[in-house]
Amino acid sequence: MLILKANRLVVVDYDLCVGCQCCMFACTRRFAEAGLSRSTIHIKSAGGFERGFVVTVCKACSEPPCMKVCPTDALVFRKPGGVTLIPSKCIMCKNCVDACTVGAVFWDEEVNKPAICVYCGYCVGYCAYGVIKLQPVGEGEDRR
Ligand code: SF4
Ligand code: SF4
Repeated sequence: MLILKANRLVVVDYDLCVGCQCCMFACTRRFAEAGLSRSTIHIKSAGGFERGFVVTVCKACSEPPCMKVCPTDALVFRKPGGVTLIPSKCIMCKNCVDACTVGAVFWDEEVNKPAICVYCGYCVGYCAYGVIKLQPVGEGEDRR
């Protein structure tokens, strides 16, 4: 029997992150754009260089709270975890932004829709420090 596995992005070790944001730039480049505005992975300082960086990625939840609060079913479940956005159904209410427990629903100001990880793993190849990796949903847990 063929068992389909879907990947999710996980953080291997937060302490390895140097805050270069190469992953963020890579994510935005998926849209053939420069800058950071459309990135769906976010890196920010934890407050002071010694404390390191906070890496925010979608966990690919098995019961996504972002999907549950969407009034128009614009977010559909991606088996076995995570969501896929149907932009044409989105009414820009931002409920999903508030509902995500880890703050992984960002907002694409240009199109006025949520920006959520599509689990492609493009960013992984641009992290020189091995901070992130793609992993089948359900395998292991990252330190969050
Ligand atoms: S902003 Fe769009 S995707 Fe998010 S909850 Fe509202 S309608 Fe659904
Ligand atoms: S965006 Fe947030 S709530 Fe939605 S699947 Fe990802 S981590 Fe879960």
